[in-house]
Amino acid sequence: MTSSREVRLKQRPVGLPTEADFDLATVEVGAPADGEVLVKNLYMSVDPYMRGRMTDRPSYVPPFEIGAALQGGAVGEVVASNADGFKPGDIVSSMFGWREAFTADAKQLQKLETHGLPVQAFLGVAGMPGLTAYVGLTRVAEMKAGDIVFVSAAAGAVGQVACQVARLKGCTVIGSAGGPEKAAFLREIGVDQVIDYKAEPDLKAALKRAAPKGVDVYFENVGGAHLEAALDSARVNGRFAMCGMISLYNDEKPEPGPSNLALVIGKRLRLQGFIVSDHFDLAPQFLAELSGWIESGQFHYRETVDEGIAAAPAAFLKLFTGENFGKMLVKLA
Ligand code: NDP
Repeated sequence: MTSSREVRLKQRPVGLPTEADFDLATVEVGAPADGEVLVKNLYMSVDPYMRGRMTDRPSYVPPFEIGAALQGGAVGEVVASNADGFKPGDIVSSMFGWREAFTADAKQLQKLETHGLPVQAFLGVAGMPGLTAYVGLTRVAEMKAGDIVFVSAAAGAVGQVACQVARLKGCTVIGSAGGPEKAAFLREIGVDQVIDYKAEPDLKAALKRAAPKGVDVYFENVGGAHLEAALDSARVNGRFAMCGMISLYNDEKPEPGPSNLALVIGKRLRLQGFIVSDHFDLAPQFLAELSGWIESGQFHYRETVDEGIAAAPAAFLKLFTGENFGKMLVKLA
């Protein structure tokens, strides 16, 4: 038996979650039965979409259950195996985050080929968030060289990849993020025009300043005033990859929609929502391009790493206050 601490949902958060919505419990994890593997998690991911799963409403993923361990992306090391193809020391990714160790059917694990990258990169730049950025730009928005691309939450896990994919594929990039440190980071990674939306709260004016010729592609992570500004600055035939709207996730009652949505008609805009898991077929192509860019020194990324399972709820909350820089992770071992 192995002891493992896990984070459980204690109650459904109302508005912005607090640490009181979570519980920490200790469980005993048994030895792997036939076909199973015992894994010790090294890192777990906290992601904005998890906020949606904390509310009981129909969505593309079922809600978390009260009193049960939360789920989410994790990378870990195999400690014991009773399954073909897995041996102690193997590095695996899974959806068994929010806990220190677990036993699972080997079919629920993916063995990681790390391509020389650190294992935690597979929860961020080389994992789900990185692929989201790539899919949104290349497939959903059909971005092409020469486009003017606007990215919101640009210094976050998805945003930092979106900015650099756009730059490396020959586009002009405008990035928006909160605060001078994040603005400086965006300049470092080659963003052409930076908006610190906390310093320039009139986003419509800020985007007009940053993109006087308008925007061909908007990579939407935030919603609200960011979406209104993008609609205002969109060029005819603009394409919006509708990835997320984090500014709305804690709303207790929905805000009215963008006041200028009618612009989609005259400007012939295409706004398309997408979920990254429908596009996993692009992962090998993305990883091949990304590892080339990282090896040649053309691509940089940030992570914010908090330590220990007890820190996981607070790490999750940082996504909504913007205290994370790049990918928000929790190191478990
Ligand atoms: P981030 O690493 O970008 O973290 C969230 C960031 O959002 C914060 O750092 C903060 O940055 C910003 N933010 C939070 N609240 C607000 C607000 N009220 N107004 C403006 N900015 C805010 O998270 P991810 O990269 O993991 O996710 C980015 C977006 O992508 C989310 O909307 C998420 O739901 C979506 N997503 C969608 C996927 C899909 O398949 N469609 C898959 C993965 C992610 P700042 O300090 O700059 O304010």
